[in-house]
Amino acid sequence: MHVPWRRVASWHCNACGMCCRVYTPRLTAYEYLKLRGTGFVIEKAGRFYIRKIGGKCPFQSGRLCSLQNDLKPLACKTFPFVVRRKGEEEGLFELNGDEFYVYADTFCPNLKIKRDRRPAVAELVREAVMLFTGRGRLSRLTATIPETAKPQQPPRRLVMA
Ligand code: SF4
Ligand code: SF4
Repeated sequence: MHVPWRRVASWHCNACGMCCRVYTPRLTAYEYLKLRGTGFVIEKAGRFYIRKIGGKCPFQSGRLCSLQNDLKPLACKTFPFVVRRKGEEEGLFELNGDEFYVYADTFCPNLKIKRDRRPAVAELVREAVMLFTGRGRLSRLTATIPETAKPQQPPRRLVMA
């Protein structure tokens, strides 16, 4: 279920890896082209997705993601937040005079919901909107992983074009 960002009291990622097993991220056309050489992406009716293998994303290494920075899809970078161009008042987030509508997916077990409308996660939402607009870097919208625990090897079939 998606809720407007103003209803989110707090969120952090502890890298449980559940979202990478349950969801099939949708890709932009550009992301699809960048990852096509891996053989792990598919096109269905003009839409692009990561192809699940064995019930999980093939880029998942243990609980972590082996794709980082420019290769990691936007939908994964902003999860559990989703940025849209249309929505309801409670989801409105303005950045530099531009209007965005941001929602959060309650699937994530570390997302806490509240009743009042006082903004609590505005900085996280700002980062999601910045990523959506192609600006900014992934910083707070990810788990803090010790360097030694990060995946060292991409999947074997990862051959970049
Ligand atoms: S975003 Fe949520 S579900 Fe996904 S890895 Fe982080 S804590 Fe787990
Ligand atoms: S690309 Fe990475 S973050 Fe996205 S679903 Fe796959 S493992 Fe998870």
